[in-house]
Amino acid sequence: MRFAVFSDIHANLSALDAALDAVGPVDGLWHLGDVVGYGPEPDEVVARLVERGAIGVQGNHDAAALGGPEIDWFNPDARRAMEWTRATISTTTREWLASLPRTMTIGSCFLVHGSPRDPTWEYVTSLPVARANFAVLGERIGLHGHTHLPLAWIEEDGAIEVVSPGHGSVLELRGRRVLANPGSIGQPRDGDTRASFMVVDTEADTISWHRTGYPITDVQGRMRAAGLPTNLVARLSHGQ
Ligand code: ZN
Repeated sequence: MRFAVFSDIHANLSALDAALDAVGPVDGLWHLGDVVGYGPEPDEVVARLVERGAIGVQGNHDAAALGGPEIDWFNPDARRAMEWTRATISTTTREWLASLPRTMTIGSCFLVHGSPRDPTWEYVTSLPVARANFAVLGERIGLHGHTHLPLAWIEEDGAIEVVSPGHGSVLELRGRRVLANPGSIGQPRDGDTRASFMVVDTEADTISWHRTGYPITDVQGRMRAAGLPTNLVARLSHGQ
């Protein structure tokens, strides 16, 4: 079975649709939260995920969109975008976001936005943090987002190695444990402007990473029309 894993879509419908086209037929679509926030089309993104039967978890932006205290931790631009998101989203979107669990287990895979020990907030960006999270990860394959950086921590006999995958990278797990991040669909931050996602193949026991371009200037036009912060508009051109 092959599963597409998307994270941090951030209300960017053009990037989501480009990634859906690029991934082609799969046995399921999983998302790792931050479906909304920053971008101009929260309702449309949720509608597309519903249409495609996506399942997944709630991120810090999704929780903030529901009125949660998470907004208190946002920088000024993120806060302004979140206030816009709160005022814009439909009741249907609100109910769908509220229905998302913080964590989800599917077979040997554990889905979470931040980290296994702190589902909403923790960034898995260092070896000590990865090690601490392997200690609480009950499943073999941990899938998380939040950093917007494609990355994998692989554990074997207590030793942990890290890899930074690019477009077309294939990780052969061979039964090893992993904490894998697909990067971001809607707001990549690794200097590559293209939408980033993973495919988990449970039979081959592999994870592959993929990038796909999308019409960035169209999205930026919709962001400007919505009055979203100019810094958020500009960063899509830089992948930062
Ligand atoms: Zn995010």
